[in-house]
Amino acid sequence: MKQGVLYVPDGTPAESALRRTTDLCVTAHQDDVELWAYGPIAACYAKRDKWFSAVTVTDGAGSPRTGDYGSFTDEQMKQVREKEQNAAALIGGYGFMAQLKFSSAAVKDGASPDVTADLTEILLAARPDVVYTHNLADKHDTHVAVALRTIAALRALPKDARPQKVYALEGWRDLDWMCDEDKVCFDTAGRPHLSAALLGVFDSQIAGGKRYDSAAEGRRLANATFFASHATDAFISASYGMDITELVFSDAEPAAFIAAQIEKFKKDVTDRLEALR
Ligand SMILES: [Zn+2]
Repeated sequence: MKQGVLYVPDGTPAESALRRTTDLCVTAHQDDVELWAYGPIAACYAKRDKWFSAVTVTDGAGSPRTGDYGSFTDEQMKQVREKEQNAAALIGGYGFMAQLKFSSAAVKDGASPDVTADLTEILLAARPDVVYTHNLADKHDTHVAVALRTIAALRALPKDARPQKVYALEGWRDLDWMCDEDKVCFDTAGRPHLSAALLGVFDSQIAGGKRYDSAAEGRRLANATFFASHATDAFISASYGMDITELVFSDAEPAAFIAAQIEKFKKDVTDRLEALR
């Protein structure tokens, strides 16, 4: 890692902490993992044979700040956000927490190889079974840039180091628009106290009035109830993902892949209108 920091909550040596990881989530900001990947966190929590670990790519310098944090400099804000993220890693029992500390501008610079190189290094050392990242239809530029860099890093892996599955998670824009048969549902109902603790840690982002914690919980409840109109709820709380494994391990253009998904949604809407005319 160029300038990143690695934190291992249980003190296991770094090499083993990386290698034990079964589920690895790569996101842009401190708090993204807990907002969007709670299903995998909960599925790995306190399991002997599963370890959830996470990577945040940016340094938190551009974070919004109000109230008690209003006068904080970028440098102070970076420190607060790093601490909050590591606290979440401790609470969530993560295998390791890597914070790569790139500026948002560096992440969005497609010509720079640095972010992808760091991600490739971590993926090679960890060799997770499953990787999670942002989805390509997200409306936050830094999220989409991280998804693209993650795909590039995964494509750089030798065949024997590839994960079995890669999922893109809803975030700044949900995945409710996807056709139901294509949605991957993550059960987010388990251990609601753990979810509350993980989201509540990010005081610097919530205290100013943006209730990300409530919003994330609300979306998960709505997802579970509105998933299928005729069935009783299979989950009481769920988040959606998109399976991008095929995209990642092919030469397909990410833009063409997501355009095909949107086209499918468009057809679903227009076919229904046509049938009911
Ligand atoms: Zn984010």
